[in-house]
Amino acid sequence: MKKRGSRAVCALLAVLLLLSACGAAAPETATGFALDTVVSVTVWGGEEGSAGRALELCGRYEAVFSRTLEDSEISRINRGEDPALSEDSEALMALSLDWAARTSGAFDPALGAVTSLWDFHSEDPDLPDPDDVAAALARSGYGRVALAGDRCSLSDGAQLDLGGVAKGYIADRIGEAIAAEGAAGAVVNLGGDVLCLGHKPDGSGFTVGIQKPFADAGEVLLSVTVSDMAVVTSGVYERYFTRDGRTYHHILDPETGYPAESGLVSVTVLTPSAADGDALATACLVLGPQEGMALIDGLENAWAVFLTDSGEILFSEGLRERFSVRD
Ligand code: AMP
Ligand code: MG
Repeated sequence: MKKRGSRAVCALLAVLLLLSACGAAAPETATGFALDTVVSVTVWGGEEGSAGRALELCGRYEAVFSRTLEDSEISRINRGEDPALSEDSEALMALSLDWAARTSGAFDPALGAVTSLWDFHSEDPDLPDPDDVAAALARSGYGRVALAGDRCSLSDGAQLDLGGVAKGYIADRIGEAIAAEGAAGAVVNLGGDVLCLGHKPDGSGFTVGIQKPFADAGEVLLSVTVSDMAVVTSGVYERYFTRDGRTYHHILDPETGYPAESGLVSVTVLTPSAADGDALATACLVLGPQEGMALIDGLENAWAVFLTDSGEILFSEGLRERFSVRD
């Protein structure tokens, strides 16, 4: 028996925004489908059309960072071409390689040869051949990426896949564009990568719910209230299929080429930058409770909530003192 996660719905509601009515001018919201997920932008006190313009940026960035669109900069690098990188690709590659090194490769932007063997989209996916996984893994890894200024090259046939960090990077850029238009507050939600800017007109923060794993989409386990903070979740329940009683999810362990079995089912990271949060959430899901929490606790501006496969909720140091958390 096979079962697939209801991907789009889960992605939208993996982090459910509990936006309460705020009395002052109504916010403007735009919602769409981009980056292979449901995306939405809500803006308080911005210029007319601000939310819609912000949402359009998703498509523009997707055309640059996608691994599957043939003309993207990332696809061109994967084909061995040597395009002059845009500022955004250069910045995203530098950030990705930095997090790869700081997570000892738990977050790895050069796993594309392996991730492309796994199919989390079709109704009835085949398991990849173990020999193919081993061969792809043997030519993967961020050590095979050379970034020099606006040039990026790959050796041994390694392939880039920035799916673990691109949404966060794009959320940050969208946030900048909204702030430049003078909005007082905004929430950018790119399939569970949630960036909260400023505050609501009444001065209150934004309450972001953390999805209960494998429950109905939108069923919240707990929520945190934040201002000027990204709340980014990686969950094994977001994309998965079940085969012969075993669940295969989309976050791969770079040491095995198979879905990470770290004891964590969900990681939510709170950081000022959504890109940092995105890379960290993916890394922690691979690293597991001990190593992952040590990583978070060692960082100055990062906090996390981990959900384990035995139902435990783990908070990083200081999270409950700094943020309002509700069950
Ligand atoms: P996220 O939802 O941010 O955790 O990203 C998951 C996506 O990142 C997957 O769909 C893959 O495209 C990619 N990915 C899978 N495993 C890893 C990994 N260990 N490091 C970096 N990216 C990964
Ligand atoms: Mg991520």
